[in-house]
Amino acid sequence: MPKVLAAFAHPDDMELLCAGTLRLLVEAGWEMCCLTLSGGDRANLPWTREEIRRVRLREAQNGAAVLGGKAHWAGLDDIGIFYCREQLEIVVEAVRRFSPDLILTHSPDCYTLDHEETSRLARMAAFACKNYHFETRSPAMKHGPHLYYTDASEGKDKYGHPVRADFWIDVTPVFALRQKALACHESQCGGKPTPENIRMFQEMNERRARRQGEYCGVDYAEGFRQNLAHNYPQDDILGAVLSGFVKRPGEAGNL
Ligand SMILES: [Zn+2]
Repeated sequence: MPKVLAAFAHPDDMELLCAGTLRLLVEAGWEMCCLTLSGGDRANLPWTREEIRRVRLREAQNGAAVLGGKAHWAGLDDIGIFYCREQLEIVVEAVRRFSPDLILTHSPDCYTLDHEETSRLARMAAFACKNYHFETRSPAMKHGPHLYYTDASEGKDKYGHPVRADFWIDVTPVFALRQKALACHESQCGGKPTPENIRMFQEMNERRARRQGEYCGVDYAEGFRQNLAHNYPQDDILGAVLSGFVKRPGEAGNL
């Protein structure tokens, strides 16, 4: 069974960026694991960091389960993700243990350094996981996974400039599941999971996916760029597996 690893900084990032694509991969027979690097423990909530982490990791499990996958915590802290040897070893070991064919991670340009550093860690881990002189508990992989970057949060970088995808996945058929998975993150609903607050959280999710959809002529979409640097897999595995859902710039109906 092919495997996809969604490596993101915080417990709800996956739902806000690529949950539809992950669901489509699950429906295509893929095994999915969401690796949340931090436990989201510094969210502005009136509990201890341990309590917040416990709640948010449970929410991450529930959200991944809605999509047919599982979630795993890398053991790092919120506002505590850095590209360094120690954290790279943690991410490389997580990659080796799951041994994915495909990794989805944050855009290299995003609004918070937790996201950007996660992107750097995932990028290097996708390379270092097959280097047997970079030792972790698990053995080196024979082949490195394909690596793709999702949209930036709200589709823009720190200058406010749009970060445009190279292609999009039309997630309209599964968007209701992306919303259902997001609703698992009750602690992020304005501090109180009232129906009104959950609806507002889902409306934000909808605005983001709808904007990407406007770029490619569908209701809801998720954008991606593949890491095609030297020594990374060059074939477009994501586009090939989900070919029936791929939208590319310049196609009829696209901007
Ligand atoms: Zn985040």
